[in-house]
Amino acid sequence: MANTLLDPHYEEIFEQAASLSSVTRGLEPFAQLTTLHLGGTPLSSFRCFSQQAAVEVIKLFDAHQIPLLVVGGGSNLVVADGEVPLAAVILDFDGIDIDAPSARLRAEAGAVWDEVVATAVAAGLGGIECLSGIPGSAGATPVQNVGAYGCEIADVLVEVTLYDRQHGRIVKAAASELDLAYRYSNLKFTQRAVVLDITLQLHSDGLSAPLRFGELARTLGAEPEQRLPIADVREAVLGLRRGKGMVYQESDHDTWSAGSFFTNPIVSSAQASEVRSKVAAKLGEEAAEAMPAFEVAGGIKLSAAWLIDKAGFHKGYPGPQAPVRLSTKHTLALSNRGNANTADLVALAREIRGGVAEVFGVTLEPEPVWVGVSI
Ligand SMILES: Cc1cc2nc3c(=O)[nH]c(=O)nc-3n(C[C@H](O)[C@H](O)[C@H](O)COP(=O)(O)OP(=O)(O)OC[C@H]3O[C@@H](n4cnc5c(N)ncnc54)[C@H](O)[C@@H]3O)c2cc1C
Repeated sequence: MANTLLDPHYEEIFEQAASLSSVTRGLEPFAQLTTLHLGGTPLSSFRCFSQQAAVEVIKLFDAHQIPLLVVGGGSNLVVADGEVPLAAVILDFDGIDIDAPSARLRAEAGAVWDEVVATAVAAGLGGIECLSGIPGSAGATPVQNVGAYGCEIADVLVEVTLYDRQHGRIVKAAASELDLAYRYSNLKFTQRAVVLDITLQLHSDGLSAPLRFGELARTLGAEPEQRLPIADVREAVLGLRRGKGMVYQESDHDTWSAGSFFTNPIVSSAQASEVRSKVAAKLGEEAAEAMPAFEVAGGIKLSAAWLIDKAGFHKGYPGPQAPVRLSTKHTLALSNRGNANTADLVALAREIRGGVAEVFGVTLEPEPVWVGVSI
């Protein structure tokens, strides 16, 4: 496919990049690179099969001010339709090493995250079993501090190797330097650095992290905070996630998504009371009492899924004929039914965000990274 945006000057640089060792050049559309299966075509795409190759390609493009997007598994990306004026740099190096005496695991950025979890579990190392089934790459896990079922990568992350794009050098950064917070790090939305590998501190007693998520503990017949064999916890998490369409599967359009599309809003306690009053006015006192609200650092965390549902957007909304719908298994996932484009997704995202703001006065923030398009 010819790309009409390609500057002749870029072509020279792209050829230089393609001639580097462990790099292949292609023209892979974002519809193939993302789990939403949406998005147009980059200027060119570059698969990098080693850390060194990725660093050299990115350094070259930065030196020539060629816009680029680092792509892992494409499971947290919303990309514009049509021609996308940047180079896609796909990280395809995927080594996983375990140092048994220290129970440390190092994974290269392109390793498939769930394979990292499976490898740890097979080696009897606990700490990440609750993060089973999250799509995408190991290198992206610190970017938004991935989390699920009461655990997040911040619990086990020791350090990352970064390619610092501002200073053009490879550095080690401790987890504490990344400002990891709920679905956030100082790497997200900034493109300031590329994660080349991650090091995790796991534990070797064969038991899981303490079970902090009620639904998971109940599924396993365990008490909260109990620790169970890691393989059992992994299986339970995968089962729960499959039931919610939260394990990506090519054959299931409910999973052609970016996972949770909106983050859970964190509001002040005064705002939380206002929302509760609005719920009471619309749905009655019982619903207001039942509204999920948890004290966290920085305020009160509300449930985006609950607010969306109570604002009238139920699973499967707006119906079977729509190109983009809420997943039929989870209110918080916007899913491509097979022939959508990004404009369809954005339209539904705006409708839902607007509806929740109108009914409850809460503005939901999208969780994925948006490229060339905004909500
Ligand atoms: C079905 C489904 C379920 C999901 N469930 C969860 C969940 O339970 N919890 C959760 O937290 N998330 C979840 N997600 C979101 C997503 O899987 C995670 O955010 C994941 O870590 C994204 O990884 P990726 O490799 O696909 O990143 P991409 O989508 O490829 O990239 C996302 C962003 O990170 C940047 N990036 C990627 N790799 C690197 C790198 N090595 N260095 C620097 N920047 C990089 C990209 O440039 C982009 O800005 C889910 C998604 C889906 C589709």
